[in-house]
Amino acid sequence: TFQAVLISRDEDKKQSVDWTELSEDDLMEGDVTVAVEATTVNYKDGLAITGKAPVVRRFPLVPGIDFAGTVTKSTHDGWKEGDKVILNGWGVGETHCGAYAGRARVNGDWLVPLPDGMTPKDAMAVGTAGYTAMLCVMALERHGITPERGPVVVTGAAGGVGSVAIALLAGQGHHVIASTGRASEADYLKELGASEIIDREELSGPARPLGKERWAGGVDAVGSHTLANMLSMTSYGGAVAACGLAQGMDLPASVAPFILRGVSLLGVDSVMAPKELRIEAWQRIAKELDHKKLGAIASVVPFSEVITAATDIIEGRVRGRVVVEMPG
Ligand code: NAP
Repeated sequence: TFQAVLISRDEDKKQSVDWTELSEDDLMEGDVTVAVEATTVNYKDGLAITGKAPVVRRFPLVPGIDFAGTVTKSTHDGWKEGDKVILNGWGVGETHCGAYAGRARVNGDWLVPLPDGMTPKDAMAVGTAGYTAMLCVMALERHGITPERGPVVVTGAAGGVGSVAIALLAGQGHHVIASTGRASEADYLKELGASEIIDREELSGPARPLGKERWAGGVDAVGSHTLANMLSMTSYGGAVAACGLAQGMDLPASVAPFILRGVSLLGVDSVMAPKELRIEAWQRIAKELDHKKLGAIASVVPFSEVITAATDIIEGRVRGRVVVEMPG
């Protein structure tokens, strides 16, 4: 048996979160069983555990949308006992039992290999947030946003997606403008490679159709007015990769940046992203993300503190990424 977090719902659809003891028989269908060695707390895990948004859609369910560990059993062609793997998304922690347990049983097609030289803890220091940041960087590249085009802006800068996006973009030589509500994190953001820090208040109110051209594009983890303002200040032919909704799911924008400046809005989803893209993203993270910066981004909590960390992330108290270390 192993310790697990379980989200349940009563007859009045009221959600509760408890610690429980499970055995492998309690896990859901799948052709690969993995000993979870590290997991993490993403914004979506915070939403699931606090019940603030309907992330969990099957009850009872073990939450946790990503993990890294070692295969213990497999009937899948691609995996054998002892393989080191990473899982992100595919509805794990939403409709399929997830990471917050000692074991997970999943569809082998969902797994990607842990890149050489990366430990499970390293991988979870990056986590879904960091892997999504890489997907955003790759989307900007496909659109031709090179450092020569001008500065790029990263919103939700001190959060998980934001921190990794800054490190990656700065590593490629971009002039990075970090937008944050936490002025106290300026030194941290500069250490990651930000060249300028702006107050997120500058972007959080209603946007004008077009503003002064301030950047060639950027990565947005915030949505709502922030994304609308980012678009209105993107220079001719630029592009913004959007992946998040920390301010809101709405997008109170005008079409002016699209039709008058040829600006593009690039949607980024990590959950159902195809396997080839995931493998490319993880290989590139292993190669390009400065290990020292990853150390600055990540803090480690024991599994016993995962519920507290999930509440903290929703209340904006988490800097960078939280790695959850599994016992034994
Ligand atoms: P996180 O660590 O909590 O980062 C979010 C950051 O957004 C916060 O640290 C904060 O940054 C900023 N923020 C929070 N509330 C805000 C508000 N009301 N107005 C403006 N800014 C605000 O979360 P994360 O794990 O990086 O995830 C970021 C977002 O991306 C979430 O919405 C998450 O659901 C989404 N996401 C999407 C995908 C996908 O597949 N599309 C994958 C991963 C994550 P500052 O303190 O620096 O201001």
